Formats: sequence, structure tokens, C-alpha cells
Amino acid sequence: MSGIAPRPASEFTSYDLTADVVVVGYGCAGASAAFEATQSGVDVLVIERSSGAGGASALSGGELYLGGGTPIQKACGFDDTPDAMAAFLRAALGPGADAAKIDRYCEASVAHFHWLVECGVPFTPSLWDAPAWVPPTEDGLMWLGENSWPFTEIATPAPRGHRPAARDFGGWLLMDRLTTAAESRGARVRYDTYATSLIVAEDGSVTGLVARSYGDELSIHARHGVVLTTGGFVDNDVMLAAHAPRLLEHTKVSGGTDDGSGIRMAQAIGAGVRHMSAGQVGIALVPGMAARGVIVNGGGQRFINEDTYPGRIGQAALFQQDMDVWVILDEQAYEDVPEPQRWGVRPQHVAGSAAELAELLGIPPDALAHTLSRYNEHAARGADPDCHKSARWLRPLRPPLAAIDVRAGVRPPSESGDRRGTGASVFTLGGLHTGVDGQVLDVDGTQIPGLFAAGRASSGLHAWGYISGTSLGDGTFFGREAGRSAARSR
Ligand SMILES: Cc1cc2nc3c(=O)[nH]c(=O)nc-3n(C[C@H](O)[C@H](O)[C@H](O)COP(=O)(O)OP(=O)(O)OC[C@H]3O[C@@H](n4cnc5c(N)ncnc54)[C@H](O)[C@@H]3O)c2cc1C
Repeated sequence: MSGIAPRPASEFTSYDLTADVVVVGYGCAGASAAFEATQSGVDVLVIERSSGAGGASALSGGELYLGGGTPIQKACGFDDTPDAMAAFLRAALGPGADAAKIDRYCEASVAHFHWLVECGVPFTPSLWDAPAWVPPTEDGLMWLGENSWPFTEIATPAPRGHRPAARDFGGWLLMDRLTTAAESRGARVRYDTYATSLIVAEDGSVTGLVARSYGDELSIHARHGVVLTTGGFVDNDVMLAAHAPRLLEHTKVSGGTDDGSGIRMAQAIGAGVRHMSAGQVGIALVPGMAARGVIVNGGGQRFINEDTYPGRIGQAALFQQDMDVWVILDEQAYEDVPEPQRWGVRPQHVAGSAAELAELLGIPPDALAHTLSRYNEHAARGADPDCHKSARWLRPLRPPLAAIDVRAGVRPPSESGDRRGTGASVFTLGGLHTGVDGQVLDVDGTQIPGLFAAGRASSGLHAWGYISGTSLGDGTFFGREAGRSAARSR
């Protein structure tokens, strides 16, 4: 507690810095909060611990989950409604996802798309129509599991993954445009400044914060409010061990600054948290290969439809199978994925039959042979009664058969070298309990005056599930809400 314990306002007779709204952290949520607060006509200061803007947001794929009938969806020939989008998100992000946040997010999604465009984020009106983590094109739209079971039975499918016009990872472009927009509206930014604790008045309201910069302590007064947008806590192993131990020991999906400091500072004054054990699990497989083959566990059995959003496969692989999983495919399935989209993945084992392959993998030969013969029998008829993979990806797999060990890793185009690990790359989804307007709520569910949060420092749309685009999506959307609310506060 020592570093994060709140400081009483009575301790300060003057401050080193003052602003109406102080935003802590300059990723997608911070930039969006800063933009909206300036639009409300107040003076905004962003403080950021790094020497530049961006956080995890700038490293990301840039995919934003948007829908309900955006111009990009319409241009690609899809009718979508806020209701269909909400039905999908409730199922995909649950159980227990925040229905009020999902409803608000979906109702305003088209308007949020237009806001992003006004900030300068470019979207190309074309569809990438194949399973992928990050498409190698500038297509502005992609599927993120909406056309896979069980979602096909829950909501009318429409692709909702909206991508800035950048090949591969586009988070840098999103952040370039959002920070330019915020600063051109007057937001001031101070880098190399690490917030450590909140300043709290006698009535319990947050009136500022204490930060460190190059060894100096700085007191910062926030006349209207403080917005915490400090990201999640995947880089803090103590917090992971306490809240989300299943996420320990895997590759961390972050910019290295997700130490949970914003969450802890707010917890230290009584803030509530939600869904702290939840995490996104990227699995080191090439979605196009998995969809064309099968994924089996150490018992040689399939456990999920291979064409679904790969993060769902990752969650099932980690939480149900301890990452003891293999992608099994044949030569055609491998060759049908264009070389640049293979991300350096090659099979580790090849054999003339399912039983021989199983021997190489150390899994029960009869089980794998049975799984593949049953899969092939149904695939020949375009059916998958076991896991409900779409007929588009069903084809009997012919020997020789190959196996890919997900622990061997993938090598996205932006990276070089080996990435062998556990096969899982994770970040946290849980965080501060916030209302739909971004207010931080205490353990009783009562608003803490002067304190707001958004992005992965908060628990946003997600409960347990995750779909790509919902993190940048809810970070930007509820970041805006938090910025507006902070500007109106007091
Ligand atoms: C490789 C990769 C690909 C991804 N792809 C996608 C995708 O396509 N779509 C999607 O939705 N999500 C994606 N994600 C996840 C997504 O990027 C993050 O969840 C999201 O960016 C979080 O946004 P944020 O604003 O909450 O945090 P961040 O963008 O991480 O910003 C938080 C900022 O706060 C600063 N900070 C932290 N603590 C303090 C402190 N105490 N004082 C001052 N500053 C502080 C940090 O330095 C950081 O700059 C991806 C992530 C990665 C790494």
C-alpha cells in the first residue's frame, strides 16, 4: 500500500501542476478522454509514464469492434442492427457481461464510427473474408467470429471488425490520429510522469494525484476530475497471482507498462473491481490453417469449432486443455494459406497415417485415428455435428498428415526471431468497476466523486469472453464518456 496510499488534500497548500481534468495514461482510452474533455471547453492535462504516446494501443492490430450499420458495413453489402450486435456481444463477452454498457455501446456504434473518421482514422470500404489475426491488407472490415457457431444461432451474422487502413498491425495509425486530434483541440501532455497515488479531500472526492518524474515528486491538482486510463495489469505478476493465476507464465500482450497502478491507486480509496480473473488468450496458431484442419487436445479429441474467433480457441485451449493442443492438417490445408499469411509457421511432425502421427505426438493413436475418420466422414457430407464448423471449411483431410505444436509460436510480420513459449499470449480484461458514464464506483456501487476510468484499467464490455476490437472499441468509446463526465464534474 505504501506507494499507492491516498494523500489527503489537506497536505497540499499549492500544487506543481493544475488542470480541470487530468487524464492518466495516453493510450486509446486516454486520448479519447482527453479529446472529449477538451470539447467540453475545459483545460486538460494528460500525464504519461513513457516518453511517448500510444501504450498497448499503438502496438495493437488496430481492430475496432463497430457495427449496427456503419457505412463500411453497408458498402460491403451487410445489413446490421444495434440489436444483432448487442445479442452477439452479450453471448461472446459473457457470461455476465455488462448489459447496460453493451446496449449503450451498440446503440451509439455508428456515431462512434463517424467520430473516429472525424478524428482522421481512415477505413477502406472492403472486406477481408478469411480467418486471420491481422489481415495483411488495408481492407477496412473483417469477421471476428460472428459467422461461426454458436453465434450463427444467436444473432444475424455481420462482420464488425473495423480496421484503420494499414497493412497488418494498424494500432499506430489509430493512435497517431487520436493523439493528433486530442492535442489539436488543446490537450496538454506531460511525458515521463508516473502517477503513484490519488489526492483525496475530506469528503472523499478525488481532487488530484501525486506523480513522479525523474525522481521528483509532483503534486497535480484536478479541478474537475481525474480519469484513469492506465491499461491493465498483465505486467504485474503479483496482481496476476492474486486475481488471474491462469494468466501467469504466458507471453504478455502489452507495451510493458501494464502494472495495474491505476487500478491499485483507486482500490486504495475503496474502488470496486470486476472480472479480475478474465483474460484474452491469443493462441499461437494461424487461423487460416486451423480453420482448414482440426485442433485436437492431448487425448486426440476436438474441443471447439476451428473457424471461430481464434481468441475463443485460445481461451478454450488454455482454460480447458492447459495448452496441450495440436493443429492437424494435410498438405492442401497448408498450401491453401498463402505464404505471407503463414507467419513463419511450419509443421513439426508429418506422418503417413493418423495413428503414426499420434505416436509422434505422444497422444493415443486410436483416439486420433477415430477423431479424424469421424471428421472426414462428416466433412465429406459438409457436416460437423460434433463442433459445428461451417461447411465452407469442411473437407476430408488426406494423408500425409502434419501436426503443428502451438508452443512453437508464430512470427507476425512485424517481429523477427523465435517466439517459442507456452503457445498463449495474454492480457487482462478485469479492472475498476465503472458506470456507463465512466464514473468509478466504490465497493458499494456508489460513485467516487471526481474519479473516472476507461480502457483496460476498468472493466468494460467484457465479463469472461473476448473478441478482437472490443478493447480498442470500449477503450475509445468509454474513454470519451469518461472524459465528458470528468469535464462536467464539480
Ligand atoms: C500486439 C497487440 C495487438 C492487439 N490487437 C488489438 C486489436 O486489434 N484490437 C483491440 O481491440 N485490442 C487489441 N489489443 C489490445 C489493446 O491494444 C489494449 O487492450 C488496449 O490498447 C488498451 O488500451 P488502454 O488505453 O486501456 O491502455 P494502453 O493503450 O496500454 O494505454 C495505457 C497508458 O497508460 C500509461 N500508464 C500506465 N500506468 C501509468 C501511470 N501510473 N502513470 C502514467 N501513465 C501510466 C502506459 O504507459 C500507457 O501508455 C492488442 C494488444 C497488443 C499488444
